[in-house]
Amino acid sequence: MQYRTNPRNGQPLSVLGFGCMRFTRKGGVIDQEKANREMKLALDRGVNYFDTAYIYPGSEVCLGNFIEAYQCRDQINIATKLPHYRAKKPQDFDAFFAEELKRLKTDHVDYYLLHMLNDAASFERLCGMGIREWVAEKKAGGQIRNIGFSFHGGTLQFKALIDAWDWDFCQIQFNYMDEHNQAGIEGLRYAYEKGLPVVIMEPLRGGKLVNGLPREARREFELAQPARSPADWGLRWIWNHPEVTVVLSGMNDVAQVEENCRIASESLPNALGEDALQLYERVQKALAKGVRVGCTGCGYCQPCPKGVDIPTCFAAYNTSYAENLVAGMREYMMCTTLRKVRSNAGLCVKCGRCEQHCPQHIAIREELDGVRRRLENPVYKVAAKLAPKILKY
Ligand code: SF4
Ligand code: SF4
Repeated sequence: MQYRTNPRNGQPLSVLGFGCMRFTRKGGVIDQEKANREMKLALDRGVNYFDTAYIYPGSEVCLGNFIEAYQCRDQINIATKLPHYRAKKPQDFDAFFAEELKRLKTDHVDYYLLHMLNDAASFERLCGMGIREWVAEKKAGGQIRNIGFSFHGGTLQFKALIDAWDWDFCQIQFNYMDEHNQAGIEGLRYAYEKGLPVVIMEPLRGGKLVNGLPREARREFELAQPARSPADWGLRWIWNHPEVTVVLSGMNDVAQVEENCRIASESLPNALGEDALQLYERVQKALAKGVRVGCTGCGYCQPCPKGVDIPTCFAAYNTSYAENLVAGMREYMMCTTLRKVRSNAGLCVKCGRCEQHCPQHIAIREELDGVRRRLENPVYKVAAKLAPKILKY
């Protein structure tokens, strides 16, 4: 296993983190014994970062059971997440946290994240409820060791959040397909330059970069030397970035754990040569052919006076064609709508300011109209209406 040092506290973190969100289920219940075998193998191979969340059904309990069974609390870092959007009053922070400690059978959390904190306005709401004071108290008592947030949104919002507080770490979606999407490479470097460890989620885009590649992209990998699987190439691309600290993989098979640990043990920063980097460029180009709007995510069109997150809207729109409508709508809801201040395409008033700045000469107003028509469908409208009640923001 390779380790990268947390620049904030000098702690070595395994470059591979165990994502505890995809354990095998039997009749809807996590198969604890199978999960134990997978986590134990990862632990034996040197993985010391395990990521779960309050809202992953059964996951915190499963991790807690594993820790108890193998008495390995001092060998691993637990990362889990506060469902802050469900908190209506300051006391709710304590209630969620106490339940998480109980589920995890521990008295402290090493890496605690505000889950899906996607915009500065949501953070302001939490500040109004005293989240900073609450975290300070928990840190002083040793119950929270590091505070961070997980993020799905645009680069500008990400930077605003990074600047909004003295975070200890952050977690973003990053892979070769999303190099310029969401926080993207710009956000990754921004956080790194501020001295923050960056944890990566969705390194293979939920499997799309393994099983969902178009034929041309698959062919590129098949012809490449040395022979490696698409998953292997995908993971190495991320670890090639020195700004990355931990890459999470949601593992649910011992062979997969073994394989990922092997790749992790071989992957050093800046290790990929020119041939490999050109291979990724060709694969990215093959992926881009299935793209509806040729937005590179550069962000020059931002900020929009009405708050439309233009590149994020286009990214979800592209996903709705490259993958399917459900995947596109999920991304669109999560990245533009499930938040206090929305940034969806429907907010556009067609002023045209953005178009003067687009180096790709995209007819942004027209394309946003397409986004609105496709993604702001009746299902979206119902979900958007119910979201504030369900998520309590
Ligand atoms: S045209 Fe729409 S997206 Fe562009 S700046 Fe104006 S309101 Fe924002
Ligand atoms: S300026 Fe153009 S290419 Fe860049 S993010 Fe905006 S729409 Fe996309």
